[in-house]
Amino acid sequence: MTALRRTKIVATLGPATDKPGVLDAIIKGGVDVVRLNFSHGDVNDHIELAKTVAKLAKQHGKQVGILADLQGPKIRIARFKEGSVILEQDQQFVLDAGFDSHEGDAQQVGIDYKQLVDDVHPDDTLLLDDGRIVLTVERVEGQRIICRIIVGGVLSNNKGINRQGGGLSAAALTDKDKADIKVAVEMKADYIAVSFPRSAEDIHYARHLINDAGGRAGIIAKIERAEAIEVIDEIIEASDAVMVARGDLGVEIGDAALPPIQKKIITRARQLNRAVITATQMMESMIENAIPTRAEVFDIANAVLDGTDAVMLSGETAVGKHPLKVIEAVDRICLQAEQQREIRVSRHRIDSHFESRGEAISMGAMYLANHLDVKAIAALTQSGSTPLWMSRISSGIPIFALTPTEETGRKVTLYRGVYPVHFEPGEVDHLGLNKGAIDMLQTSGVVNKGDIVILTKGNYKTKGSTDMLKLVRVGE
Ligand code: PEP
Repeated sequence: MTALRRTKIVATLGPATDKPGVLDAIIKGGVDVVRLNFSHGDVNDHIELAKTVAKLAKQHGKQVGILADLQGPKIRIARFKEGSVILEQDQQFVLDAGFDSHEGDAQQVGIDYKQLVDDVHPDDTLLLDDGRIVLTVERVEGQRIICRIIVGGVLSNNKGINRQGGGLSAAALTDKDKADIKVAVEMKADYIAVSFPRSAEDIHYARHLINDAGGRAGIIAKIERAEAIEVIDEIIEASDAVMVARGDLGVEIGDAALPPIQKKIITRARQLNRAVITATQMMESMIENAIPTRAEVFDIANAVLDGTDAVMLSGETAVGKHPLKVIEAVDRICLQAEQQREIRVSRHRIDSHFESRGEAISMGAMYLANHLDVKAIAALTQSGSTPLWMSRISSGIPIFALTPTEETGRKVTLYRGVYPVHFEPGEVDHLGLNKGAIDMLQTSGVVNKGDIVILTKGNYKTKGSTDMLKLVRVGE
């Protein structure tokens, strides 16, 4: 059996993957979860794309998760008469909430988010276009924010505005996001990502909207505001997974503050039994080039060593020139990084108390897996909770999530070291269930006669019932 990559790949779809054969190639090439970015494109296109992904995944005998990423309240400037302007250092530039939204020029531009005038104060630093343009607020006069240009350059239509240090007050879910949640539920997205949450309440509210629309998608909190860091545990606990959204977060807290924060978020997510994605500019140069820079190779490998469940590609697959080469490069870098011994053993949760029998069985299984010559873990699961608990523990042993539920199969695509297997044992007793599970893994070629497999199960038809662990030797 070739080594299974434990770290998952999330790939953003866009014009580059719309080209003939590309989506098929990247799914075959190892994409685990696709990201539909609701900041761009038409909702009907997203719905069609989700159907195509499901069809292609089925053709390849794979499960591919669908992540619908909401746009959120990205605060943006309006538009320029000429499409763009050049801002000169030391000149004045005015952000004007009352200005015509299509008439901007090198002296002033409109803003979509009218409340910005109440949120900023003299001496605030405003960062436009992911920090490429830097302004200092001199004063606010009515609807006008009078700024001085500290770092100039080309500024084009609808670029984002961040304040250094965070604190802009826009609510996390806009009217567009609320409408998009309904679309995401209709397309049966496995995950919905909430952009710019400030607190756990934003996540609870999103869950309420998803439930109201009849959906059961997991929620991913994108950590991209400075104030989210202050309440990171509450946000992680309210979510099913978090994303280290390094683009906007880096603008708010400063790029140099990102590496320790990435490590902290990954560690806390694992400790609190949640999944975590590391995102943005991981393979940025491959938008143009066919090979990554050495720094990008290190970035992916370091995220793997930090313990991330998944690495995410944005422009690299959405608009880049080499989507398949990017997937191949990420695949080989993750595989190699995963060979490091320190991430194949675990000191995690040595002192903690387990909340349920299922969690205790999962931890017991991982202790055995890391100390016995075990080939694989077969976790029989309805909800996917046991493989999630198991995958919080560092290990080199693959965890096969055997489930009759397609939804659960797609949800676990995000979890590190977990591989979904569709399994419907029928009406059998416990011995029949064990045999069916082991036969399934043997037929798939992931275990062989004589291998030891850890099998966990409960009443296979009931969620949350895992209470059994058995060591099985294949063929006995
Ligand atoms: C980010 O800011 O890093 C991010 C992932 O968000 P988006 O791509 O939606 O701006």
